[in-house]
Amino acid sequence: MPKTEEEKGFVDVVNKRYKPKGTFHVIEANQPIYNKDTGKLAGVTNPRDMTYIHSYGGEAIFFESLGKGKLMATRCDNEKCETKGSVYEPFRIFCPDCLRKNTVIDITEKAQKTAKIHSFIITHRSGAFNTLPKPIKFINIEFDEEVVTILMSVLVVGEPEIGKKVVPIFRTKNPTYTIMDLMFVIEGTTISELPEGFTF
Ligand SMILES: [Zn+2]
Repeated sequence: MPKTEEEKGFVDVVNKRYKPKGTFHVIEANQPIYNKDTGKLAGVTNPRDMTYIHSYGGEAIFFESLGKGKLMATRCDNEKCETKGSVYEPFRIFCPDCLRKNTVIDITEKAQKTAKIHSFIITHRSGAFNTLPKPIKFINIEFDEEVVTILMSVLVVGEPEIGKKVVPIFRTKNPTYTIMDLMFVIEGTTISELPEGFTF
């Protein structure tokens, strides 16, 4: 059942501190579990509803940018680092080689021009809380040679094939500020084929 406003938890940051407001734990009645063959009690259900506060820290810029139609990555610019110039997508706050803070860069255009399917998995069964259309086409994406990592995402228009070019789409209407704001479609997809709320 959707929650009422009184049953939701909200958080702001004021003077560098989290200020929670509202309800973060909703109590529900539990139920007994009976053995239908013996009529005896076997256990109880344990409903729990809690709102988790997930801090993004240095990754906040990545999630905020998705809703604006931008794909941000990071790059090591440390002169003394052996892997200087390496670009990381998924977004890595720190360089794994020199441990210095990376520079945040916009790779939207690079993704539009160079993203292609490295490998893929089609999932017909999903776990709890899945909101993706089934079967889910999970794709591993490679960009140009500057990007040294592989990004996992989901293909929502078209059929996956190794080496096929894909382009990112962004949930720019009512963004969720989560990775659900980024998906991919096969190159050549038209705007009318995109899921509700998404743009190129
Ligand atoms: Zn480095």
